[in-house]
Amino acid sequence: MTAPTPFQTPMPLPAPSQLPTSRPIATTVRAPQPMEEPGKVLLDISGLNAYFGALHAVRNVTLGFREREVTAIIGPSGCGKSTLLRCLNRMHETVPLARVTGRIEFHGQDLYAPEVNPIEVRRHIGMVFQRPTPFPTLSIRDNVSAGLRTVSRGRRPPKAEVERIVEQALRAAALWDEVKDRLDTSAVGISGGQQQRLCIARALATSPSVLLLDEPTASLDPLSTQKIEELVYALRTKVTVIIVTHNMQQAARVSDRTAFMLDGELVEVAPTDKLFTTPSDPRTEAYVTGRFG
Ligand code: ADP
Repeated sequence: MTAPTPFQTPMPLPAPSQLPTSRPIATTVRAPQPMEEPGKVLLDISGLNAYFGALHAVRNVTLGFREREVTAIIGPSGCGKSTLLRCLNRMHETVPLARVTGRIEFHGQDLYAPEVNPIEVRRHIGMVFQRPTPFPTLSIRDNVSAGLRTVSRGRRPPKAEVERIVEQALRAAALWDEVKDRLDTSAVGISGGQQQRLCIARALATSPSVLLLDEPTASLDPLSTQKIEELVYALRTKVTVIIVTHNMQQAARVSDRTAFMLDGELVEVAPTDKLFTTPSDPRTEAYVTGRFG
């Protein structure tokens, strides 16, 4: 008998009552938080390289992501942040001529092993993109439930179960109260910020254990940005979040740890308050103090 793979053990979504209340959004680096016991490393990258044809976009990165933490990846445009993120749920390989070498373990299992199905990977390691990407012809309800077929091996779960999951995911994405009376209306009839939270709800509906956010507020106004940041903070107790951002204040506000990349390399990773106040590497210091970027 083969041991169950991590791809068969989805983590349940946090019940809304278990979510911490949002804390005020700071405008500066937040004070060090009292640390809980560090979670175990859930996603472990070692010696990772990613290429687009001859272009070597990610260079020999070794980095672990722990349970119940938000990790921010920062660095100047073009340094490989998004490419690194897209290696984590096997999206990188969908680009023609793209290639990955090195190793990524998820719950101790090789994510790139031949028997691993990338579609299964993406339901355990969900992703939200820069611009909201709701399915424009589907209702709000159907957008949230769109990924459930992959969970049930192509069959749709019973209607009552779908209803329960849709409500739970929308609550976890802090959108339920705003859309509960219009679940059957078009997903593109809501604001950009609401669409982005809808995309987060869609990703949460398959009970992922990791959520990848690729500059999720890049196209949003300040109020919608604040809502997403509060949401990221609230989700961190149950889902491991990895967020790419070009906004250093955002990284300081929402993350527990920050990784700084430059020219495809990981320069430094540290607790967020340390990286922004007493970085170890002079290149990190130059970047966080605004001397380039
Ligand atoms: P960042 O997220 O830090 O802005 P990216 O990961 O998007 O950086 O890009 C890293 C490098 O890979 C850049 O040189 C970029 O031009 C290149 N790149 C990104 N996407 C593609 C693609 N689809 N095809 C070819 N090159 C790409």
